[in-house]
Amino acid sequence: MSVLDELYREIILDHYQNPRNFGVLPEASRQAGGMNPSCGDQVEVMVLLEGDTIADIRFQGQGCAISTASASLMTEAVKGKKVAEALELSRKFQAMVVEGAPPDPALGDLLALQGVAKLPARVKCATLAWHALEEALK
Ligand code: ZN
Repeated sequence: MSVLDELYREIILDHYQNPRNFGVLPEASRQAGGMNPSCGDQVEVMVLLEGDTIADIRFQGQGCAISTASASLMTEAVKGKKVAEALELSRKFQAMVVEGAPPDPALGDLLALQGVAKLPARVKCATLAWHALEEALK
């Protein structure tokens, strides 16, 4: 395993074991959820919008390491961002893991999930929270 693969693996494990922004957001103004029956992942994404800014975001649910880490990394990546910026990040992330597009450095720690592009069975795990986010921001 390369040093970079090792680092990515550690980031995924860290976010799986200590998910960020996990729990209920009582003041949420938007909410959406999703399921990935093939793996058993469930996620609920709660967003507090102030104007067109994601002032706060939290997620709940249960799932595998990939789905939990992806949701956790997502909340960190989009918190404080404008809706349009979050949707752009979602597009870049999905291009990376679904289409195997060259990773955009703007994705930051989300780059840790780029290996998912080579694991077709896990793509839905990685995109679950992002689909819920897009639904919540509609
Ligand atoms: Zn999964």
